[in-house]
Amino acid sequence: MTMEQNNKQNAKKMGKKDSKEFLVIADTIFSPIYPVIAEQIVTNTGIHSGTALDVGSGPGHLATALALASECTVHALDCSPDMVEICQRRISEKGLTKKVIPSCGDVCEISFDDNSFDLIVSRGSWFFWEDLEKGLSEIYRVLKPGGKTYIGGGFGNTALKEQIVSAMKERKSDFESGMKERLMSRSPEVIRSVMEKIKVHNYSVINDDSGIWLMMVKE
Ligand code: SAM
Repeated sequence: MTMEQNNKQNAKKMGKKDSKEFLVIADTIFSPIYPVIAEQIVTNTGIHSGTALDVGSGPGHLATALALASECTVHALDCSPDMVEICQRRISEKGLTKKVIPSCGDVCEISFDDNSFDLIVSRGSWFFWEDLEKGLSEIYRVLKPGGKTYIGGGFGNTALKEQIVSAMKERKSDFESGMKERLMSRSPEVIRSVMEKIKVHNYSVINDDSGIWLMMVKE
């Protein structure tokens, strides 16, 4: 089985146990990255308000950080009903029910109208999508004209990355090699080829210490 097939199968298997395990990691080891990435999103896109969508939001850590770092109302979308349940609970606990709205759905079939969002973000999810091309074209469809995306993966900066890789290797010895393989599957070359196929020309790729992020701008 290729790594891509393996990732897709794992994503499909994000049941109660995997969702709870991811929540523990996001609440502890990953927790410092979310406010950093949310600030980078606001700074790099220049979008401070409006309606945002976080795709593959998991327990909703980036969605809630973005809601706190901006005036955006954030829809948190995930294909795992167990993740959505956890996300709903976290949002209530944080008193953010008016700013973060969870829903269950697949990026390859987004159940929102065309031109709905000013900003679409996603972290650590596109490695698991069944069809990257379909997912990104669905995201482009629901983006408003002038709207922007910030989609990819990363840990915010070098210090956080080193800290997290080291802590994760204690839990899972092959974490670093798996991460490198995942990143290679979403290289700038792969992104460029998908952008050509879906005929999106106004985009840029950030590929630095903060991670790899696709910024599309809808024309
Ligand atoms: N974005 C969160 C974070 O950074 O903490 C969660 C990242 S977790 C590694 C990946 C998430 O993507 C999982 O919650 C999974 O259920 C979700 N996911 C995977 N494939 C998806 C799809 N096709 N549509 C929507 N969500 C998806």
